[in-house]
Order: sequence, then C-alpha cells, then structure tokens
Amino acid sequence: MGLALPCRGGDAGRPPTSLEHRMMEKHGSSCGRGSMLVISAPSGAGKSTLVRRLIALLPDLVFSVSHTTRRQREGEKEGQDYFFVTRRRFESMIAADEFIEWAEVFGHLYGTSKAQVEKILVDGRDVLLDIDVQGHQQVRKRLHDALSVFILPPSFEELKRRLTERHSDSPQDVERRLTAACQEISHWPEYDYLVVNDRLARATEALRAIVQTGRLRRQIQAERAEEICRTFGG
Ligand code: ADP
Ligand code: 5GP
Repeated sequence: MGLALPCRGGDAGRPPTSLEHRMMEKHGSSCGRGSMLVISAPSGAGKSTLVRRLIALLPDLVFSVSHTTRRQREGEKEGQDYFFVTRRRFESMIAADEFIEWAEVFGHLYGTSKAQVEKILVDGRDVLLDIDVQGHQQVRKRLHDALSVFILPPSFEELKRRLTERHSDSPQDVERRLTAACQEISHWPEYDYLVVNDRLARATEALRAIVQTGRLRRQIQAERAEEICRTFGG
C-alpha cells in the first residue's frame, strides 16, 4: 500500500490547541526559545543517515522520537528510534489530543507527541521532526515558525540503488517505496529548503547551515534582543 494521500492524519484545519496557544503567547512564537526543524524525504533518500550526522554535529538539536504502530525492526531501540505502541493505544492518544500531528504511512500510524516536543523547546533546545509530507502539512498550519527541509535523492535510479543495496526491504517493498516516492517528491515546493543528498558531506553541511541560520531568525532571538535593549534603558 502506498502513502495514504490525501491527508488521513490529524485535523490540520482545526484551530490551535491550548498547548499551541500557550507556546505562542509565552514565547511570541510557536517554538518557544528553541525552534523546530521538520525533515521529510522519500524512503531511501538518506534521511536517517543525514539526521544521525546532523544530531552528532549539533548537541542542542534533539531528535523527536515518534510513536508508531509499526513493528520494531532489528536494531531499533524502544524510546530511541520510536515508541512502539498498539493501534489501540495510539487511537487513545489521538482521542486525548496528545499529538501535534499524526498520519498513516504504509498502513501504519505515526505521530509526534506534544509533551515530548514541548519539553525540548521549553529547555531552549531545537527539535528535529523526521515526519512524512502529511505530518509536515499539519505542522505547517499550526506552528508557523517551524522550518522545513525536503531531501531529494539525486535521481530515481540512485534512489532505487540505495533502497536495493540497503537490504532492509523485500523487492516488493522496494517497489512500493519507489511508487510512493513518485508521489512524495511532488511535495517538495511546500518546504522552506531543498537539499539534494548527492554527497553525504555536502548535504550534511547544507542541513547544518539551515539549522544555524534558523537560530539567527529575529523571532527566535527576540528575548535576547529585548534584554540587550533594556541595558540601553529602553
Ligand atoms: P532513509 O532514512 O531516507 O530511508 P537511509 O539513511 O537508510 O535512508 O539511506 C538509504 C541507503 O542509502 C543507506 O544504505 C545509506 O547508507 C545510503 N546513503 C545515504 N546517503 C547516501 C549518499 N549521499 N550517497 C550514497 N549512499 C547514501
Ligand atoms: P519508517 O517506518 O521507515 O521509520 O518511516 C516511514 C515514514 O514515516 C517516513 O517517511 C517517516 O518520516 C515517517 N514518520 C516517522 N515518524 C513520523 C511521525 O511522527 N509523523 C509522521 N507524519 N510521519 C512520521
């Protein structure tokens, strides 16, 4: 089954929740002192590899661990890669409005917990969300300061090669992911930045530059600027 489009996730059209209001009122932005970076890419483009490298380079950037109903893969750690939950538990979290966004991808549910993201942002750290295009559409509508990056592979052939040589999916799964990729890549214009993952070092550097430039945005530095202005007696 391909990606479930149009959006089957949370209700992106609804008004902001109390958490979102609180974050906006408290900090003058949806992101508190920390900021939010959303990264999306078709499966196999190298997103996990890039995210690992970026997190290792930037200690104040924290990976948001999603909840999912899919099965744990070999080598994945509970609470580190995902929180693996039953569909029933996931649905009760939806009912309790515990997600910033959620979506169904490849037949499984995935969601970003509000509590977790709020904790990271309130600590003044930046949070990185590795979510699909449906999740990004929801975040975009609710948290206007979130920065987003779409990662493209250099070509279809290279994506196929990476998926095949990763040896983590059956040939049918590879086909399914390639079919979904054709749809997913059409969403790249919805993102603030585009990074082509041709060479790993270059793509990692581009992501680092995006995070660092994001930290210099006026709204992110407002508190600091006001403190400095106060020393002028203003
Ligand atoms: P994703 O998380 O997007 O599904 P992965 O990070 O698992 O993708 O990468 C897919 C495969 O491609 C992995 O085997 C990874 O080592 C390889 N890969 C990632 N980036 C590059 C790159 N720039 N050049 C060559 N191979 C890459
Ligand atoms: P995988 O199962 O291969 O780890 O991830 C499949 C897809 O689900 C990827 O595109 C990934 O970005 C996306 N995904 C992971 N976590 C979330 C989430 O919390 N929300 C949404 N919307 N997508 C997610």
